[in-house]
Amino acid sequence: MDCIFCKIADGTIPSRKVYEDERVVAFHDIQPQAPVHLLVIPKKHIASLDDASSEDAELLGHAMLAAQKVAREAGVASSGYRVITNIGPDSGQIVFHLHLHVLGGEKLAHLNP
Ligand code: C5P
Repeated sequence: MDCIFCKIADGTIPSRKVYEDERVVAFHDIQPQAPVHLLVIPKKHIASLDDASSEDAELLGHAMLAAQKVAREAGVASSGYRVITNIGPDSGQIVFHLHLHVLGGEKLAHLNP
């Protein structure tokens, strides 16, 4: 499968990784939309949250806690941050491998839903 985030997960394509374990990888977004903009991805290919199933429940929880961990390590936990995932074309999703955006380091009013 020709998926750029699968290639980042397996190291075929380089990224600025900040965290990795057996189930998820976190790295800096190449086009940051905030001073801190990290992406957390499962190593398992899931196209979007809408493609996840009950068997992915633990993995999704693990990815959320990885987002918490990298946000804390990036120093944005006390000031606040946002975790979002885009789902499908209307959301602006351009990479169809589930990912959590971790955004922080400034007031995020411009990104308010
Ligand atoms: O949620 P969405 O699919 O729109 O976001 C994909 C994100 O992946 C973008 O913020 C883009 O900058 C990032 N990206 C990246 N490294 C790549 C390709 C895309 O960080 N090689």
